[in-house]
Amino acid sequence: MGNVPSAVKHCLSYQQLLREHLWIGDSVAGALDTAQETSQLSGLPEYVKIVEVGPRDGLQNEKMADHTEVMKGIHQYPGVRYPVLTPNLQGFHRAVAAGATEISVFGAASESFSKRNINCSIEESMEKFEEVVKSARHMNIPARGYVSCALGCPYEGNITPQKVTEVSKKLYGMGCYEISLGDTTGVGTPGSMKRMLESVMKEIPSSALAVHCHDTYGQALANILTALQMGINVVDSAVSGLGGCPYAKGASGNVATEDLIYMLNGLGLNTGVNLYKVMEAGDFICKAVNKTTNSKVAQASFNARLE
Ligand SMILES: [Zn+2]
Repeated sequence: MGNVPSAVKHCLSYQQLLREHLWIGDSVAGALDTAQETSQLSGLPEYVKIVEVGPRDGLQNEKMADHTEVMKGIHQYPGVRYPVLTPNLQGFHRAVAAGATEISVFGAASESFSKRNINCSIEESMEKFEEVVKSARHMNIPARGYVSCALGCPYEGNITPQKVTEVSKKLYGMGCYEISLGDTTGVGTPGSMKRMLESVMKEIPSSALAVHCHDTYGQALANILTALQMGINVVDSAVSGLGGCPYAKGASGNVATEDLIYMLNGLGLNTGVNLYKVMEAGDFICKAVNKTTNSKVAQASFNARLE
């Protein structure tokens, strides 16, 4: 029956739950009293930027839809960035023509994963990305770099923090404004997250790093909390936990945006995102793609609504 303790579930209606339950509403930083504030975990940032990857990981990647189709199907609002995955120069020009306002290049810290996922070695992929990022910079289009398999690879198993650092440094050096370190298969733990970040943060400022966690082994929120405590304040997540990875069999979805916001609200950290509205969006997309949500928060709230 979801994650809401039965005492809470039985005394609160769904609406009440959304309105009054401490971690459901908007960020509660202002609502915390001093005693609670002083009991917060140390080392946490005040503000966390959430990068929603549902459309890309869940729709472009998982459904293997062409980005031009996705871009044509959405209404673009001013001030909103619509990042598109662009593996090469051709893809980049098509993405820009379709209206992409930010691009992503997708590297890997594992040689085997790189070969199977993007059909080339890490070295070759970096050459292609360099061209793409250079063109993007000429056009003032921000480029974000991803490093897959940062905490393990479905083919090679263990990946060393040194390898992750090396690839991240290349992407950062070619002009990516931010490097998202991805636990593509979700095998990481707070221990491996800490070791990997310690290594990468020697070369790249924490302000240019993000984490991207999958919840395959149920470690995503713990891993994210570890990263936050180490000074990272950009986190990728997908509404309803959409997205898997077609090349990493058995990998479950990204950490659900709803669950991430619930945790951050509970910590009193500001995100500027309204959990209730994200839950509505999650409900909509799950119905549209005929999936059940992977968000524990959405499941718990839905169960409470049925009471
Ligand atoms: Zn992902």
